[in-house]
Amino acid sequence: MLISNELLTDEAKDLKIAVRQFCKREFKDTLKWDESQNMPYELWGKMGDIGLTGMMIDADLGGIGPDALLSVVIMEEMAVYSPGIAMSLGAHSILTGNVINRAGSKEQKAQFLPDIASGKKIAAICITEPERGSDAAHPKTRAIKRGDQYLLRGQKIFITNAPVADIFVVYADTIEDGKSVGISAFVVEKSDEITVDKMHKMGMRASPTGIVYFDDVPVPKENILRGVGEGLHIMMEGLDAERIGLSGENLGIMKGSLDVASGYAKERIQFGKPIIKYQLIGEKLAYMLEELELNRTYLYTLANLWNKNKGDKKLRTATAISKIRSAEAAVKCAEEAIQVLGGYGYTSDYYPQMYWRDAKLYTIGAGTSEMMKLLIARRIEGGFNDL
Ligand SMILES: Cc1cc2nc3c(=O)[nH]c(=O)nc-3n(C[C@H](O)[C@H](O)[C@H](O)COP(=O)(O)OP(=O)(O)OC[C@H]3O[C@@H](n4cnc5c(N)ncnc54)[C@H](O)[C@@H]3O)c2cc1C
Repeated sequence: MLISNELLTDEAKDLKIAVRQFCKREFKDTLKWDESQNMPYELWGKMGDIGLTGMMIDADLGGIGPDALLSVVIMEEMAVYSPGIAMSLGAHSILTGNVINRAGSKEQKAQFLPDIASGKKIAAICITEPERGSDAAHPKTRAIKRGDQYLLRGQKIFITNAPVADIFVVYADTIEDGKSVGISAFVVEKSDEITVDKMHKMGMRASPTGIVYFDDVPVPKENILRGVGEGLHIMMEGLDAERIGLSGENLGIMKGSLDVASGYAKERIQFGKPIIKYQLIGEKLAYMLEELELNRTYLYTLANLWNKNKGDKKLRTATAISKIRSAEAAVKCAEEAIQVLGGYGYTSDYYPQMYWRDAKLYTIGAGTSEMMKLLIARRIEGGFNDL
């Protein structure tokens, strides 16, 4: 018996099976999408039809509710089939939809969220800039007040979904009467003043990524989330739910690696025996299951705690631990799966090489492993009462 399964609610168990069946049916060309660096546009509507685009969005607006455990299982199951598409879906709903759901007024939520929840419109979150990566609290992008609107000027980079996005949430330094009045979060709809250059990447290639140029984009003052100068607070308070949800992908990569490697090891005969009979191969498979089970148990527990406490800041260290460990384990599991498949694992005909390239992202995106370590080290420096 695996302990991790005991931590799932009935709803999460049912959803897991539904996502697996959906991906099995719809994600037949994953390796082609990886190679062509494109995901089929119509998938957004199909994911919307079964509620996947509505992660972390209120049910009365068409979502499945702000539930971290449901986000984790969706990301996990989808990442088995395509980590790239799962990442696009996560950026759309766990990152962008979630921000509007948390910080938006009733009117803003009613205006933007139903189309995001249904997948009719695609959303992207714009934090990172060419000169502001980990140091995201000091954007160079500016929103300059002109009457009842703001002119958005600047550049964001590595933005997931940017080449196909209809709605962007953009963090910018807000300038009123020539002075900075803090960072604000703006909901910005696609317009002629926004241009996007598609980026080419080593992994997560089914997920479109872009550099976004904002060239004096007019944004009505009504599109500021929560209020002028509230941006940093909004950015920080969402971090745990975002990292918990996205880390579900690492579980999926571990599971996919184990599935492919164990299936292959049972079939592949060398020296007259299936290679799974060799202890050195068995050790690799056992390692994958150990990591999957330990990381799953920790992440499901974390997601359940988040659901119970709805965003308690006390979970920040635990979330950082989970993000680092699950990302590193996913990279290592994918690497071991390549090894089990031998030369075939090195070709683009099999999943493990894609998993390996994709897994590397989560040691960088949504807070690098170094920034996670710093966060944990600061917590130790500050004194732990509960060790
Ligand atoms: C595929 C992909 C998708 C992404 N999607 C999005 C998105 O949708 N929206 C978005 O806003 N961003 C997105 N990002 C950006 C991502 O969040 C950043 O890449 C990440 O935050 C790191 O920033 P950086 O790349 O500028 O690296 P830097 O911050 O420049 O870091 C470079 C290196 O220095 C280390 N470093 C930095 N500061 C310190 C320090 N104080 N102490 C020790 N080490 C340090 C880092 O850990 C890293 O190893 C995406 C990135 C990728 C690759």
